[in-house]
Amino acid sequence: MRGRVRSAGKTRPPRPIMRAMPVDPLTRATASLHGLALGDALGSQFFVPANRPLLDSRTPPPGPWRWTDDTEMACSVHKVLTDHGRIDQDALAASFAAHHDFDRGYGPATGRLLRLVREGGDWRTLAAELFDGNGSWGNGAAMRVAPLGAWFADDPARAVRQAELSARVTHTHPEAVAGAIAVAVAAAIATAHSGLSPGRFLDLVAEHVPPGMVRDGIGEARLLLTVDDPLLAARVLGNGRNVTAHDTVPFTLWAAARHLDDFEQAFWTTAAAGGDIDTTCAIVGGVLASRTGVPVRWMRMVEALPDWAEVPEPPPEVPTAGRAAPSGRTVASSAPRTDPGEHAAEHRHRG
Ligand SMILES: [Mg+2]
Repeated sequence: MRGRVRSAGKTRPPRPIMRAMPVDPLTRATASLHGLALGDALGSQFFVPANRPLLDSRTPPPGPWRWTDDTEMACSVHKVLTDHGRIDQDALAASFAAHHDFDRGYGPATGRLLRLVREGGDWRTLAAELFDGNGSWGNGAAMRVAPLGAWFADDPARAVRQAELSARVTHTHPEAVAGAIAVAVAAAIATAHSGLSPGRFLDLVAEHVPPGMVRDGIGEARLLLTVDDPLLAARVLGNGRNVTAHDTVPFTLWAAARHLDDFEQAFWTTAAAGGDIDTTCAIVGGVLASRTGVPVRWMRMVEALPDWAEVPEPPPEVPTAGRAAPSGRTVASSAPRTDPGEHAAEHRHRG
């Protein structure tokens, strides 16, 4: 049972037994999206140089915390699932393009693609033509997909197919697709299975991931589960610094596996490795949140999600990592909004 999970060589005290996963896909995906947004928004705070010492002391900086492209695109995934019950690629492309905010830290290739789609271009052609016809292998398909995995948590094979459809709207390279599949399946398995060991979690995920560098990286992550130091793990697995799927996804799944039942520890472990911090933390937050719940006091600091996405508040019945009492008044309507110019995310190039 989860309350007896061993992690990092320590035995955690028993926690109240969580009930089975929420039966409602929307409830699961909504929890995941809020965790993704929290990881993105808090993680991106550590691109602000003045906040870096706080990372070492594991102290959240003052809010509000502004989310970035990871959350904006994940809101489109959530909206399309809510409206269609599956990934309608044309609807997803249209939503990505309509809501693309230049100031949210998009990579240049994706930003240009979405601008051209908004001007009437065909996403199928534009996405396939990127990078001399190879398609992007950036981590942008993986960063937004966790809520989809939570939605299809009762059918991992369907999560695989739907994740691929969601990826190919912008990222057609096989590694980018594999990264999205891996994150979606990880969210599905984390949501559906209680009592997982870290190794079993990664084994179950890897079973669904096509051969390639992402899957090889998950295999390496499996071998590194006994390593405590996230910097050491990231030295082998990557930390998203290169913003490729294979440089990003294996480390995030290592961090999630190490802290399957503790959202906050998972966050700090992920952030400590540096690199593409908003995206690595968005992935980990999205993978774990429908399992662990989200820390209420942190959620209050996150900028409200966009009105167009019509995202429900986090489900009150989702536990909050065994810490705070479940609360339905955690987020959107009461969350502070940031000044859009508060900090210009000095963002890396995401393909
Ligand atoms: Mg971002």
